[in-house]
Amino acid sequence: MNARIIAVGSELLTPLRMDTNSLAITERLNAIGIDVRAKAVVGDDLADLAAAIREALAHADLVVMTGGLGPTADDLTREAVRDVLGLPLVEDETIVERIRARFARRGWQMPEINRRQALVPQGAVVLPNANGTAPGLWIERGAGGLLLLPGPPRELLPILDTLIAERLEPRAGGRRVYRRVIKITGRAESHVDQLAQPVYGPWLAWDPPIATTILAALGQIELHLRLQSDDPARAAATLDGAVGALEAVLGDAVFSDDGRTLEQVVGDRLRAERLWIATAESCTGGLMASRLTDVAGSSDYVERGVVCYSNRAKTELLGVPGTLIDEHGAVSEPVAQAMARGIRDRAGVDIGVGITGIAGPGGGTEAKPVGTVAVAAVLREREMVKTFRFIGAREQVKYQAAQAGLDMVRRLLEPPRD
Ligand code: AMP
Ligand code: MG
Repeated sequence: MNARIIAVGSELLTPLRMDTNSLAITERLNAIGIDVRAKAVVGDDLADLAAAIREALAHADLVVMTGGLGPTADDLTREAVRDVLGLPLVEDETIVERIRARFARRGWQMPEINRRQALVPQGAVVLPNANGTAPGLWIERGAGGLLLLPGPPRELLPILDTLIAERLEPRAGGRRVYRRVIKITGRAESHVDQLAQPVYGPWLAWDPPIATTILAALGQIELHLRLQSDDPARAAATLDGAVGALEAVLGDAVFSDDGRTLEQVVGDRLRAERLWIATAESCTGGLMASRLTDVAGSSDYVERGVVCYSNRAKTELLGVPGTLIDEHGAVSEPVAQAMARGIRDRAGVDIGVGITGIAGPGGGTEAKPVGTVAVAAVLREREMVKTFRFIGAREQVKYQAAQAGLDMVRRLLEPPRD
């Protein structure tokens, strides 16, 4: 079975409101093996809605609509369905009474316009809404159907879950979508694809096939693997094998295959090894410490972080010699190393990190252009230091530098390879 989603509401076409319902709907449909092939956001206009419904019904077994079921004149989903399917709208007295009772519980009288929410396309199944006035509506069509859901997420999700359990899951035949995400840092997208494509390319011809997508985010590449199957154990084994094959070619550039973020991976390692970390950050302004402390429970391993933006701060807070800064410049590997050692010693911890760079847009030179960042990390006698050249605007340079700091700590914690 495949599906299309129509999110209804003119507010969703402005920068002020985002259509998040379609994501939640997609997640739930995918979980029972229903593919979402297309989705649309359509404003509150009768003709536009009718056209979208016609188009969706022509291409998909299942069409899910959200929004436009409110009581006001701009809520036109019911009318658009009436026009497309030629089903008259009939007022359902049971729904009117339910809405009336809902108002009465708050000591209010039901406004007459709420009667609009009791209009049901003839033959539709009414799906009770425990958290609001507009019920959901289900119109069976062939193997699938047309599902109308109210817009507010807390109203929509329980209705959808009930419909899935009672009507959609039984006909999905036990098929499910299984996913894995491999996260990589420190490599370009094309580099990752060059290594990975020969591995995942043939999987599309498998039965069942594994579909692979490569997604580049800032400082991070993700490989998404997706498999449909009616056998959970076999799906898990197939995906385990696939993840293993990709990790074998991608090596230690892979930092996660279980959904964890880089800061979670680093944090879990620090906790497992009972190590404490402290950071000394210049150009990132504390972003690495901020990301480390985004993780709940990070007080188990984060001791402190200092923002040492000026040269004076590097000397006063970390003991970086002024002569070292004069000799090599504030953005240099020796200064990053001195920062990492300085914060480690002053905080009395196991691991120190130093980050110093030029976030831009000003301050670049020919030898050290904007985006030049020196990162150092030190764990007892083990030290790593590297100069990066990041591309992007100021915030992007800062984010990538924090990512590099986190990744250097991850690599420092890896058992040395022989
Ligand atoms: P409606 O059913 O069109 O009256 O929508 C009621 C409210 O639900 C809107 O004001 C939004 O706050 C929310 N809403 C509607 N559609 C969506 C959507 N696609 N994603 C997230 N929220 C939505
Ligand atoms: Mg609306």
